[in-house]
Amino acid sequence: MIDAAEIKESLRKCRLRLQAEVKTHYLSHGIKRRILIRDNFTCQYCGSVTGKTYVCEHIVPVAMGGLAQDHNIVVACASCNIRKGRRIAVPLNLMAIAKDFPDYISHVTNSASWSYDAGYKSKT
Ligand SMILES: [Zn+2]
Repeated sequence: MIDAAEIKESLRKCRLRLQAEVKTHYLSHGIKRRILIRDNFTCQYCGSVTGKTYVCEHIVPVAMGGLAQDHNIVVACASCNIRKGRRIAVPLNLMAIAKDFPDYISHVTNSASWSYDAGYKSKT
């Protein structure tokens, strides 16, 4: 039988893990699993079904201060991930995944170097 103290301790550990995820750029297995399911294993830049070549990648790159928060991580195919590199690009599902973060949406759309829809921009 599980007692209340064990449940409390287990919840405390869960909370600490979630807080750690929010403050880091490190992609844990937990966040990768959530993002893959949310994005249905589909590249959020070109819409291709990525099969085994998926990656979970930061919309705002780590080099630009991007963190491992659900709204900053999307599934990308290997070729989109390589093309994007350390730049900001607008994923297809940005409005849906970041609907609670309007400032973040405008930051991404204003600083994006390219988006798949608009074609590649020359902005660096
Ligand atoms: Zn792609």
